[in-house]
Amino acid sequence: MKQKRFILDESELPRQWYNIQAEMINKPMPLLNPATKEPLNADDLAHIFAAECARQELDMEHAWIDIPEEVQRRYRYYRSTPLVRAYALEEALGTPAHIYFKNESVNPLGSHKLNSAIPQCYYCKQEGVTNVTTETGAGQWGAALSYAAKTFGLECAVYQVKISMQQKPYRSSIMRTFGATVTGSPSMSTRAGKDIITADPNHPGSLGTAISEAVELATTTPNCKYTLGSVMSHVSLHQTVIGLEAEKQMEMAGEYPDIVIACFGGGSNFSGLAFPFMRHQLQMVNGKSSNGKWIDFIAAEPASCPKLTKGKFEYDFGDTAGYTPLLPMFTLGHNFKPANIHAGGLRYHGAGVIVSQLLKDGYMRGMDIPQLESFDAGLLFARTEGIIPAPESCHAIAATIREAKKCKETGEEKVILFNLSGHGLIDMTAYDSFLNGDLANPVF
Ligand SMILES: *Cc1c(COP(=O)(O)O)cnc(C)c1O
Repeated sequence: MKQKRFILDESELPRQWYNIQAEMINKPMPLLNPATKEPLNADDLAHIFAAECARQELDMEHAWIDIPEEVQRRYRYYRSTPLVRAYALEEALGTPAHIYFKNESVNPLGSHKLNSAIPQCYYCKQEGVTNVTTETGAGQWGAALSYAAKTFGLECAVYQVKISMQQKPYRSSIMRTFGATVTGSPSMSTRAGKDIITADPNHPGSLGTAISEAVELATTTPNCKYTLGSVMSHVSLHQTVIGLEAEKQMEMAGEYPDIVIACFGGGSNFSGLAFPFMRHQLQMVNGKSSNGKWIDFIAAEPASCPKLTKGKFEYDFGDTAGYTPLLPMFTLGHNFKPANIHAGGLRYHGAGVIVSQLLKDGYMRGMDIPQLESFDAGLLFARTEGIIPAPESCHAIAATIREAKKCKETGEEKVILFNLSGHGLIDMTAYDSFLNGDLANPVF
């Protein structure tokens, strides 16, 4: 019988994260101080983030960064995550393609976000920080951070996008269960929130508004650091455990991917899966290796929030109020108000600086997925593989199905690997709307 799931022994788990910046030919452009337009250094960033995260953010030198023992110990609570061959999905599609997915939904918090919540809280604790704050969209990041903060004895304050709070009420219950305080954004509790509400009293909130409020809280509270669930390069670094494991698991399966797919919010789960594979391509281009294979890397984004395919590459703020450094990225503009789609984690105006540079340099491509197509894909996946995917992950599945159908037409037996970034068990109101035919199909 053909093997379906591939798991690594604890002894085979990664002990280092992969820092792609060290091997990029064109390095990401610097982050700029918005007032002076001067490049920021790690000390500047350490006003907002844990100092070690700030250092990792700008590290262009070390390709491998040790995962602290304590973080490795906590990863072992739920890692490795399974690599699974989607035989039933393949059969339903009648495709000759081999479809694999890395199942990052298999931890108690239900998404890949825990991979970065643990090290960020660990570094804060090490550095004597007592409080952490953050934004969250659908709530997966907030939930992961709330749990990680509690286990390290940190107080946690979360700003959750207002519309997502209404769409997914149980996520705030989860965060509060782990001891966090949760405030809907935009709120009246910060200057940024008040300004946004004054300009638009019915603002549904976005990741951009929630980031502004969390950054304001962190910069006005002693001993409080801001943490981010995506976009920043140190977050992508932490997520590389996904791809490093997947590479070994694909080897166990005796295959190597032709296509690697992940959904795209700010880029962390895409980076986490893709970068360890992309390193072989970079090493080929660098002349350091000759045995790499060219992979088609696809980032699946919502058609209503398409920064990769329809955004501009330029310096922009990471938040609505303009508190963050200026980031060189593909962006729809920091004032862009995304449509109220259910994939809350993908409602973000910009892309991380590393993926933005890689996209510009042609190492990857974006693919737009309309909301209804994403749920069609999610439904087929649920009915074949038995897992209800997060609305975000449905975008990766839809892109996978498009590619698998192409293989059916051409008869090519391509190997497709996608990331199942999370499960959708707290997103059933979204599935209800879809099943009732009430879901809109907003476009850009
Ligand atoms: C947050 C989230 C995303 C999008 O964020 P990225 O940083 O782009 O990975 C995707 N899927 C799930 C389940 C999420 O929670």
